[in-house]
Amino acid sequence: MTISSVSGVGVSRRTILLGCVAGGASALATGASALTMSPVKVSKDSVHYVTTASGDHRCGACKLFVAPSSCIAVSGDIGRDCGCRIWLPKLV
Ligand code: SF4
Repeated sequence: MTISSVSGVGVSRRTILLGCVAGGASALATGASALTMSPVKVSKDSVHYVTTASGDHRCGACKLFVAPSSCIAVSGDIGRDCGCRIWLPKLV
C-alpha cells in the first residue's frame, strides 16, 4: 500500500517505517558515542552516587570507571568502592 493518496508521492508505508528504524538506530549510535567521548559530565547527585556501593555494582567494576579515581560520565573524584545508578558492567 502506498500513501500517494495523501502526499501525492508513491512512497510505501514500509519505506517510511524502515527509514524511521534506520534513523532511530543512527541516533542511538550517536548517543552512545557521545557518552563515551563527551567532555561534559553529570553531577554525582544526578546519578545518586554513593560512597558505599552494594554487591558487585562498584565503580571499580564499572565500564565507565577510569583508574585511578575518575569516571567518563560523572564529575569529581570517584572511588573504586563507590557506585551510582548508571553503573555499567565491564565486558571482559
Ligand atoms: S558506577 Fe560507573 S558510572 Fe557511576 S560513578 Fe562509578 S564509574 Fe562512574
